[in-house]
Amino acid sequence: MKVSVDVDLCQGHAVCQAEAPTVFAVPTRGHVEILDASPGSDVSAEVENAVRYCPTQALSLADGGDAPSPKGTD
Ligand code: SF4
Repeated sequence: MKVSVDVDLCQGHAVCQAEAPTVFAVPTRGHVEILDASPGSDVSAEVENAVRYCPTQALSLADGGDAPSPKGTD
């Protein structure tokens, strides 16, 4: 699993940090920082929740490999 963020979309709501604090850190003012871009399966449920509940859909996942996750905006 790989996780990436579009910082242009991130508004610092910190939902992701609440869902997966070992993977995401959000400063009081600013954008999310990904602490672990390739989180293990032990936190996959938390990371999936973070991606799902991010209010601006700034986060995206890839299941594996090196290809970046498509954003599906086309
Ligand atoms: S939940 Fe989304 S908008 Fe909020 S800090 Fe995390 S990535 Fe940014």
